[in-house]
Amino acid sequence: MAKIFCVANQKGGVGKTTTTVNLAAGLAKVGQRVLMVDLDPQGNATMGSGVDKRSMALSVYDVLLESASINEAAVFSDKCGYHVLGANRELAGAEVELVEVERREKRLKTALAEVADQFDFILIDCPPSLSMLTLNGLCAAHGVIVPMQCEYFALEGLTDLVNTIKQVHANLNPDLAIIGLLRVMFDPRITLQQQVSEQLKSHFGGKVFDTVIPRNVRLAEAPSYGLPGVIFDPSARGSLAFVAFAQEMVERIQKL
Ligand code: ADP
Ligand code: MG
Repeated sequence: MAKIFCVANQKGGVGKTTTTVNLAAGLAKVGQRVLMVDLDPQGNATMGSGVDKRSMALSVYDVLLESASINEAAVFSDKCGYHVLGANRELAGAEVELVEVERREKRLKTALAEVADQFDFILIDCPPSLSMLTLNGLCAAHGVIVPMQCEYFALEGLTDLVNTIKQVHANLNPDLAIIGLLRVMFDPRITLQQQVSEQLKSHFGGKVFDTVIPRNVRLAEAPSYGLPGVIFDPSARGSLAFVAFAQEMVERIQKL
C-alpha cells in the first residue's frame, strides 16, 4: 500500500515543487512506484514533470469533482519514470465549486484509496496557502514533508502550518503527522543559515531530515526543460542530494 505524503508550506517560493518532483524522480530511480499529484493551479509540478498542463485531457480537477478516476486522469511520464496527476488553472475553480459539495475535504483521499495498491509512494505538491486544496492533501496523507529555507523567520512561519496540521490530525485525519523538515536551498557559507539550521535541530530534533538540499542552479534550470533536476543533470550536487533524500525517505517509512 502506498505511503502518501504532502509537500506543504504556506509560503510561496520555498521549494515545495522542486522537492516534490525531484523526490518523485529520486524515488523512481531507486525502484519505487510513484504517483505525483499536483494540487497547485499553477501546474508547475506538472510542467516540471514533462506533462503539458495546457493539453491535458483530464486533471486533478476532474478527480476532485468526481468526474474522472485517477486511473483515467493520471499519465505516466516516460522521461521522469513516475505517474503524474496534473493540474492547471481550472483547479483554481475547484476551490469554489467544492464549497457546495459533501465530503469536500475528503475527495482526494477517496480517489487515492482506489489506486493505493498500485504505488509505493504518492507525493502531493500543495499550493502556497492553507486552502481547501491543501486541506484535501492533508486529509489524504500519512505525513507532511515541510521544505524550508534556513532564514531568520523560518521558525515563525512554521507555527501556522503546525497548528493546521494539529487541527487536521484532531478532527479529520488521525494518521497525519509531520514526517520531517527538509532544509533546502542551503548555503553553508552563510553563517545565519548554519545558525537557523542548528536552531531547527534543537527545536525539532529527529524531525529534521539528515539530508540537506544545497542551493544549486541546475535544480533551478531543470524546469525550463520540463524535467526534475534529478533527470536533467543527475550528477549535479542538488540532484545527488535529492536521490540521497529519496533513500532517506525509503528508510524512514520502514520505521513508521
Ligand atoms: P514553491 O513550490 O514552494 O513555490 P519552488 O520549488 O517553485 O517553490 O522554488 C522556487 C524557486 O526556487 C524556483 O525558481 C526554483 O527553481 C528555485 N529553487 C528551488 N530549490 C532550489 C535549490 N535547491 N537551488 C536553487 N534553486 C532552487
Ligand atoms: Mg510550487
